[in-house]
Parts: sequence; structure tokens; C-alpha cells
Amino acid sequence: MVGHRTLLEVIADWTDLGPRIAAAVGLPVAAGARLRAPIPRPARNLFAVGKNYHDHIQEFARSGYDAPDRADDVPKVPIVFSKVPSAVTGPGDDIEAHPTVTGELDYEAELAVIIGRGGRGIAREDAMAHVWGYTIINDVTARELQRDHQQWLLGKSLDTFAPMGPWAVTAQEAGDPRELTVSSTVNGEARQHASVADLIFDIPELIATISAGITLQPGDIIATGTPAGVGIGFTPPRFLTPGDVVECSITGLGTLRNTVRTPRTARNPA
Ligand code: MG
Repeated sequence: MVGHRTLLEVIADWTDLGPRIAAAVGLPVAAGARLRAPIPRPARNLFAVGKNYHDHIQEFARSGYDAPDRADDVPKVPIVFSKVPSAVTGPGDDIEAHPTVTGELDYEAELAVIIGRGGRGIAREDAMAHVWGYTIINDVTARELQRDHQQWLLGKSLDTFAPMGPWAVTAQEAGDPRELTVSSTVNGEARQHASVADLIFDIPELIATISAGITLQPGDIIATGTPAGVGIGFTPPRFLTPGDVVECSITGLGTLRNTVRTPRTARNPA
């Protein structure tokens, strides 16, 4: 009944399809099936939020990677930036190391909100009714590009810099997002661990802020920010290198696992 529709098409048709899917018997993932990102090619840029956990603001300030005049500040309003849709890659896919572009590759485990019903001027108190569900995004970042270009788009949007998955969970299934825990590991070593309840600007605030003047559309994605424990939080920084395995997990949403690799191309001969 759902056919071969994409998740974007399913979300756009959710009023009709939601109850039918809920009534259907759950289908196990076939053995050997390869999961792709829940929304492999978003219709437009992903919204993302910077400096949205207190302890991450502190590590970012200590790292020297933020502009000195604003390093210690807790933002008074959300810092919203974007990642281009072509950066999305799936669970199990490789994160390209891009050695000719960056030597400062970093990870950021984040809860990502998937918008269901669109709208403009969405009030805080109505915002959660516009959430279709959730997934995990690793907001992979080239730190020197983020710093040197001042605007974050380049450093956040290199090909494969938005691993997403391993699947999407409806808001109903996920329950109260404030009860979810975000964590990450690199090569099995714990790096990040925080409660979504610790977000400085919560999900209703982010939806109200973005939708104030931009009409949110079904399938829009908002990566809500990352907690402390990223590579630049260490002294010296612990950047990702080829072979590193990054796992981003959220309670109830699974684990997004990706390996950093340098593809063998003409530009990067083995
Ligand atoms: Mg981030």
C-alpha cells in the first residue's frame, strides 16, 4: 500500500498514510538489506543549530576555534546555519576524509527533528504538533574551514558530512524527546553523552524561531546541536583520521555508524 515511496512522499501524505501504516504489521528489515539515509536527498538545505548545549559552548570557547569576541557567550537567540542536501549519506556509509581540503575533521552527534506539517509563524505551544519524527545526524565538520571562512556552510557541507539514520522514528513512537540521551563513540571510546533536556533552545523554540519568517515544509530537517565531547574539546584536539569508526546513538533511535575513509581517486591516489 505504501509502495516504493520515499519517506518524503510518505510524510507529505501522512494524514492519509499514518493511520494505515500504524495499523500494518511491522516488517522486519530483510537480512542483507542495506539501509539508506531516511531522507537521502532532502528537498532543501538542512537547518542546523550551533552552540545549543552549555558544556559544548565552553569546550568550543577553550578550543580557540570560535571568534574571540563571542567565544564565551551563551547565545541569546538560536544560531541557525545550514548544510547542503548533497552532504547527506547513509548509515554504514563512509565519511570522506577530504585530505586535500581539511586536516581537522570532527564529529557532532545530534538529534534531528523531521517536520511533518509545515507552516509559518508556528507558536511554541503548537510546535510539537508539527514534528513528524526524529533521526540521528552526525554534523561532521571541517574545523579550520568553519573557523577560517567565518560562515559555517563550507565547513559543514563537504560531501558525506551529514550521515543520517539508521532510520527515522515517528514522534509518537519516540515519546518525549527531552527524555532521550545523545551519545557518541570513536573506535569504541566514549566521547559524548548528554540529555536532550539540556538543550539551551528546545525543539519548540527552534521551530518557532525558524518558522517565524521561513515557511517550514514537510520533510524539513532540523539538527538540534551537539553536546560536549567533540574532537576540538580535547587538548590537543583529537581529529578524525581514516579508519576511525564513529558511532552516534540516541535512545530509541538506534546507532548511526560510519567509517572515515579516503576514497582512492585520481586526486587521492593510494
Ligand atoms: Mg552541530
